Amino acid sequence: MSSIKLNLTMRILIGMILGILVGRFFSLFVSEQTDTLINLGLFELSIKAFFIDGLFHIGGQIFVISLKMLVVPLVFVSLVCGTCSLNDSAKIGRLGLKSVALYLCTTAIAIALALSIANLISPGEGAALSTDASFEAQAAPSFADVIIGMFPSNPIQAMATGNMLQIIVFSIIFGISMAMAGEAGQKLAITFNQLNEVILKMVGILMNLAPYGVFCLLAKLFAFLELSEVLKLGKYFFTLLAVLAIHAFLTYPIIFKLFTRLSPITFLTKMKDTALFAFSTSSSNATMPVTLNTVTKKMGADNSIASFTVPLGATINMDGTAIMQGVATVFIAQVYAIDLSMSDYLAVLLTATLASIGTAGVPGVGLIMLAMVFQQVGLPVEGIALILGVDRLLDMTRTAVNVTGDAMVTCVVAKSEKALDKKVFNDASAC
Ligand code: ASP
Repeated sequence: MSSIKLNLTMRILIGMILGILVGRFFSLFVSEQTDTLINLGLFELSIKAFFIDGLFHIGGQIFVISLKMLVVPLVFVSLVCGTCSLNDSAKIGRLGLKSVALYLCTTAIAIALALSIANLISPGEGAALSTDASFEAQAAPSFADVIIGMFPSNPIQAMATGNMLQIIVFSIIFGISMAMAGEAGQKLAITFNQLNEVILKMVGILMNLAPYGVFCLLAKLFAFLELSEVLKLGKYFFTLLAVLAIHAFLTYPIIFKLFTRLSPITFLTKMKDTALFAFSTSSSNATMPVTLNTVTKKMGADNSIASFTVPLGATINMDGTAIMQGVATVFIAQVYAIDLSMSDYLAVLLTATLASIGTAGVPGVGLIMLAMVFQQVGLPVEGIALILGVDRLLDMTRTAVNVTGDAMVTCVVAKSEKALDKKVFNDASAC
């Protein structure tokens, strides 16, 4: 059993490495001059167009779309099963409070860490960058709009557009009503549990196809990635990576150990597949089926807790993104030689923490939220264009941190509710 699972991680890793190598090969050796046309009967295509824009693009997109395809049915069905089995609305309220508090606290810690370390390293000092870049900012929704927007006037529309907070609210109300509906509710619960099994099977099938999907995604990405940008923005890039690593390998293990008394090493080891998924897809949302599978099947968190905390976390908890915002704020302020006061830093902490609520976990959304933070403290929003070139790689890394945070909080909440099976957690074969 364990060798099959270990093989999956290895296969995903091999897919990643091969994808990066093939992508770099195309980027370095297949230029417009060296590209050759191949005859496909009806039409001719260049090698690059055939592989990069054809094969790899189609393969990668099908993989990500298939993951996303599972998100809405999985969240709805598993959350209905979860709330129905809890059968206690006071407990649901407590769960909500605990998870939101933990998610907000870890995000605040993440930004504080990012601001402190970035100030220590000063990534923007001496950076020779032209500041005549441009970037369009979007308006931040008001706090009242965020709260009202959590309630769906039409649940079908919420599902059709993938509005996660609205789906969560509808599923919880549906699950509670099912628990209160006596025999009819009990009969329906059996069907929902069976549906849940079937959807989890689909997740399993997709996980087995992951090495190919990951290969295609990375081959396409690395064929176009301008790695020279990384050198130009090296200090920003590596400061950000360092803070992400500190948060993932120090903050999370400490909080995890404090609250659960379980081994953080086991936790991190069991997270590796999920982190690789997040890295390759750059989307907490698309990774959600895998995160849910990991925390329930490998870490022993009860589905009644995880089905609530994981989708909630994928939507409102973005520690990695918050770290990027903290480092980027200090970096841009230094590039434009703008002094930030203590109250500016507090404003960054507050805005970035609140901005993460209600923003979906999809690629690149962190930069849109960054514009809100910049506007709050009066930094030039067009400064964001300076870091665009390296953001794709950083987005991948911070998404891995985002989902690790979701899983960590899930375990902490599950443990506090006595809903974490220690045997499963400590079982090395469930890796
Ligand atoms: N891609 C990130 C996520 O899905 C969000 C971001 O930082 O852009 O979690």
